[in-house]
Amino acid sequence: MKTRDEALALDRDDPLAPLRNRFALAPGVIYLDGNSLGVPPVAASARAQAVIGQEWGEGLIRSWNTAGWFALPRRLGDKLAPLIGAGRDEVVVTDTISVNLFKLLSAALRMMAERDPRRRVIVSERANFPTDLYIAQGLIEQLDRGYTLRLVDDPADLPDAIDDETAVAMITHVNYRTGYMHDMASLTHLIHQAGALALWDLAHSAGAVPVDLNGVGADFAVGCTYKYLNGGPGSPAFAWVAKRHQNTLAQPLSGWWGHRKPFAMDPRYAPDEGIGRFLCGTQPIVSMSLVEAGLDVFLETDMAAIRRKSLALTDRFIELVEARCAGHALTLVTPRAHAQRGSHASFEHPHGYEIMQALIARGVIGDYREPHVLRFGFTPLYTRFVDVWDAVETLRDILDTEAWRAPEFAARHSVT
Ligand SMILES: *Cc1c(COP(=O)(O)O)cnc(C)c1O
Repeated sequence: MKTRDEALALDRDDPLAPLRNRFALAPGVIYLDGNSLGVPPVAASARAQAVIGQEWGEGLIRSWNTAGWFALPRRLGDKLAPLIGAGRDEVVVTDTISVNLFKLLSAALRMMAERDPRRRVIVSERANFPTDLYIAQGLIEQLDRGYTLRLVDDPADLPDAIDDETAVAMITHVNYRTGYMHDMASLTHLIHQAGALALWDLAHSAGAVPVDLNGVGADFAVGCTYKYLNGGPGSPAFAWVAKRHQNTLAQPLSGWWGHRKPFAMDPRYAPDEGIGRFLCGTQPIVSMSLVEAGLDVFLETDMAAIRRKSLALTDRFIELVEARCAGHALTLVTPRAHAQRGSHASFEHPHGYEIMQALIARGVIGDYREPHVLRFGFTPLYTRFVDVWDAVETLRDILDTEAWRAPEFAARHSVT
């Protein structure tokens, strides 16, 4: 891609181009942060009006039954399932990734304690998204049974770290900073060869890259709906549990929504059959309802088409940044190999924060992650090739003119 006209030609030939109309995109903005918060689907607004005006306003309490509110976590789970290679009754949309990790990691450790109590190690990566590590640390402290968290610094060290002491390998498929993607099939196989359980975090995978949880034989997974699935700020996350484990697992947040008969008002907890036992309490129905507007867009395409365009976008972006911003100390931290790349591209620069603020001031919205990383997410459903071209030209201008040195760009906001 050497000219803007070439970018426009790629957009004309793009089979996914019509799906951009399904999104309410802010005018004058090139949005490269769908990996952090997706944009609103057009349908979300009408859905919100219907939930608040009719379902809540007119239906009132009756809507738990008549509008399907009570069944929503399972129904949306079934709709999401094909995007991650899961089947029916295997996914619930609920809570946050942090809370779902707590539930699944606890359940996995308990299951392993019965099978092989000597296994007391949780393996993960130091570069994992911190909340995943925080949850593991909190759980270990709370259980107080000698569990430890073993962290590797290089993905290549995972095979050695996963051994006969390992209970669970808790791995994030696509790294939030670098965009590095693990080979889920071979790593799951390796984890099982070592006798451990595989818990995958799909935060940067669901809706971004093809995932085949049942195909690879994984045990557990979590992910969120507000990133590539465009569910809205703070929309509920999801939890997946392989069918073979569902009825033998106990999770510690044994709230009434996971009870076999919530309205029997039985003083004793009895877990529901199947995936329902991974629910806890009353769900945020307004927010959860909007998740469906995001999922519905995926019904018009498939993950293979999304992946093709994602790689075409990130390839072009990397190539253009390296060609047009050469000599500006930007270092690619995202793998060049397609098999190891998710759907974002990150560059390090000593003044990454200021440069990102300058980009945002000109309507090119990416984000910044400590230390020094400029992160650009590509959402094939609405990102165009011409956006790639224009974003790189804006970046080039900011670097060439040193516009990022303006003092206002150094002020730190609480969310970067
Ligand atoms: C975004 C993200 C989270 C977010 O967790 P919440 O509890 O839903 O806020 C967790 N893990 C990873 C890997 C993420 O990328």
